[in-house]
Amino acid sequence: MLATTKIIHSIPVDEQTGAISVPIYQTSTFVQEAPGVNKGFDYSRTNNPTRKALEDLVASLENGYAGFAFGSGLAAIDCVIKLLSAGDEILAVSNLYGGTFRLFDKIFKKFGITVNYTDTTDWVNVVEAITDKTKMVWLETPTNPCLQISDIEAIGKIAHQYGAYLVVDNTFASPVLQKPIDFGADIVVHSATKYIAGHSDVIAGLVIVNSPELAKEVKFIQNACGGILGPFDSWLTIRGIETISLRMDRISDTALKLAQYLEQHDLVDVIHYPGLSSHPNHHIACKQQKKFGGIISFSLKQDRLNEALDFVGATQLFKLAESLGGVKSLIAHAASMTHKTIPRAIRHQIGVQDSLIRLSVGIEDAEDLIEDLEQAFEKVQKNGRLKSFSLKASLAKV
Ligand SMILES: *Cc1c(COP(=O)(O)O)cnc(C)c1O
Repeated sequence: MLATTKIIHSIPVDEQTGAISVPIYQTSTFVQEAPGVNKGFDYSRTNNPTRKALEDLVASLENGYAGFAFGSGLAAIDCVIKLLSAGDEILAVSNLYGGTFRLFDKIFKKFGITVNYTDTTDWVNVVEAITDKTKMVWLETPTNPCLQISDIEAIGKIAHQYGAYLVVDNTFASPVLQKPIDFGADIVVHSATKYIAGHSDVIAGLVIVNSPELAKEVKFIQNACGGILGPFDSWLTIRGIETISLRMDRISDTALKLAQYLEQHDLVDVIHYPGLSSHPNHHIACKQQKKFGGIISFSLKQDRLNEALDFVGATQLFKLAESLGGVKSLIAHAASMTHKTIPRAIRHQIGVQDSLIRLSVGIEDAEDLIEDLEQAFEKVQKNGRLKSFSLKASLAKV
């Protein structure tokens, strides 16, 4: 069975009624035949049939052993960190999602878990930074917002030599484009809020593991800490997955066209998109990804903050909003929105320039999206001319 057929037919038909859509079991508890005798479900924090359908589906999507669904991507990440104990260390990609950094730095540090950061785009840095205390190597690939790529296979081997787990946040690629477990990852996490659910209508998170031992531990933590996904949101996520294959194909093809258009544009300075042969780790992206996804970021010539703000205010189809991965295209300005909490000097160090703009490409027609960007560039240019004109005019008056 090929990939898309497998996804569609991993969604079960309801045995009792024949319902082709997974029923929403909106219930907290299940009646028992005798104490401890039940049909596999006793309390919905522990297990719920709708959530279980989603969990089995995502395990299959990622070629994992088992999947677990949480109330948000961060709740999923929180569960994975709880596999560790005080004194353990994590070695993480330096270009990390801000919310994950906050969780490491503001919450788990207090509990004695140390996180060290390194530029994992070159695996040699991982060899240098890993220690006997490292229990997890934490990757995101591609990263947000600079679309950096790390070699999952090479870094997995290094982690395993030290007896550490390799965790991959696969949110940006989605399991359709990249299956980290196939390349040696032990644990995959997702903000299912993004591409997996895919319609900007639910907050959800996933953990997928590659072994029965890890499954047992994650299941225990999920039930003990309780950050589960509810039945209705599980159903929404399943419904999103039904079209994920179509969406990721379409979005990736459109994004590549847009990246090529932007790359040759006079007003664009740096462009980050792993599908372009100019991307520094394009060859690694080709090895581990089927296509290159829907996120593009770019900066403007002369790197002016005001021009970037003019630009993100000028697009019509690209809606100005945080988040990504939905069917409608979104645009965001990193320095004033998604990465505003990071001090400017550090932002510059990690490649987030003042004018860096991030696009989340949706399923609209590529021609319309290009036209939208073109008219925004024209407006920015015109504003620039007006500004220099009024400056000259006011200087002339002096
Ligand atoms: C959004 C995001 C998260 C957090 O997910 P939530 O569903 O918002 O909690 C984690 N990792 C990455 C890469 C993300 O983009």
